[in-house]
Amino acid sequence: MKVMKFGGTSVGTPQRIKNVAELVVKSGKGNVVVLSAMSGTTNTLVEIAGYLYNHNADGAKDTLGRLEQKYAKVIDALYATDEYKAKANGYINEIFRYLGTFHKQLFTAKEEKIILAQGELISTHLMTYYLQEQGVNVTLIPALEFMKTDMLGEPDQDYIREHLMPLLTSEECIYITQGFICMNAHEEVDNLQRGGSDYTASLVGAALQAEEIQIWTDIDGMHNNDPRIVDNTTAVRHLHFEEAAELGYFGAKILHPTCIQPAKYANVPVRLLNTMQPDAPGTIINNVAEHGTIKAVAAKDNITAIKIKSSRMLLAHGFLRKVFEIFESYQTSIDMICTSEVGVSMSIDNTRHLNEIIHDLKKYGTVTVDLDMCIICVVGDMDWENVGFESRVLSAMKDIPVRMVSFGGSNYNISMLVKEEDKNRALKALSAGIFD
Ligand code: ADP
Ligand code: ASP
Ligand code: MG
Repeated sequence: MKVMKFGGTSVGTPQRIKNVAELVVKSGKGNVVVLSAMSGTTNTLVEIAGYLYNHNADGAKDTLGRLEQKYAKVIDALYATDEYKAKANGYINEIFRYLGTFHKQLFTAKEEKIILAQGELISTHLMTYYLQEQGVNVTLIPALEFMKTDMLGEPDQDYIREHLMPLLTSEECIYITQGFICMNAHEEVDNLQRGGSDYTASLVGAALQAEEIQIWTDIDGMHNNDPRIVDNTTAVRHLHFEEAAELGYFGAKILHPTCIQPAKYANVPVRLLNTMQPDAPGTIINNVAEHGTIKAVAAKDNITAIKIKSSRMLLAHGFLRKVFEIFESYQTSIDMICTSEVGVSMSIDNTRHLNEIIHDLKKYGTVTVDLDMCIICVVGDMDWENVGFESRVLSAMKDIPVRMVSFGGSNYNISMLVKEEDKNRALKALSAGIFD
């Protein structure tokens, strides 16, 4: 049994929905298919919620109207028979009638989440009807009946397993379910955060001890560098889960970072595949480490570096704790950190409380801030006992000003902080220095 997840781009047009249906049928019976909303839909739903928060009923209505028209066109192009066009239209009309009632009530985060859930509900219904029209034996299993988060907002893996298993009653059909959406501990409709469909696939795969979790997207697997910036990138055919986690966090958006943990602990391999080239091998991610290779480079923008220098840090203990507590009190997580005897530099990506953080840090030392920075992360076998790997990375960067270097935090990466304006140059230099 496999879990197959198709992202928003893969189900983004009627033709792509048909292609996905073909792939799903070809892969055989008994598999669970997880779908995102058609691309653009979740963003439009976020926009509608924005209007409703601002009591702008007209704005919400206009945007809803446009989305409804888009789906009318999709239905027209997707189904061959009047019977299925009517079925799908009936469902869509019902959803949009419901969405049209929200301006009449108090609008809170709870209502917003109900609105955000509609994109995946729609895409899975459209796919199910399409497969039924093709005569395929298909069952839609509602994610809201098994996907659940606990009081901390974390997926409740026992609940998921116990409630999902009984829904899979036959080996003879294809199962379809929604990515992203779930119920929370207060029995409200909720979600696994933006991009969360990958997370659903991973949780489902782990719960069912699937043979493989397939993440289908519109490109050819994980590349060894950002293909939008660097020419001649090649697909990476194998990654360790830890390497994939580093890359996902540092900008290679192809696999959502949260999706690694459940699959890794259940020891279920994840395979990244390309809907445009379904026969290409893709990228396999598992618990097998490959020694002696550098796998890939990724970059994350919008980073802010903060340095605090203090002679009080010299030979003192508890200094770092005080510094970290300031970040903690503003719910701001630190990504990179480098220390010397008299100073510490940290990077953050959430600047919502930057001014307060700087203000509080000034109690302990002199503070300098660098905005518009970028983390470049090189992933591969970076075990400290290997010789030559760090030096290859650093010598590739010889002409680029580097603000911070972090090595030794894990066995799988070395990260460097550079100016955002130097990012493309750095990615190209690393590509030439490491992979050529
Ligand atoms: P989907 O909606 O199909 O899940 P995503 O929104 O998750 O798609 O985005 C996948 C996109 O990420 C690809 O279309 C690609 O442009 C981009 N991307 C970013 N970094 C990389 C990388 N290193 N390798 C491949 N693709 C990348
Ligand atoms: N539809 C959701 C989003 O756009 C979840 C996903 O696509 O993974 O964030
Ligand atoms: Mg995605």
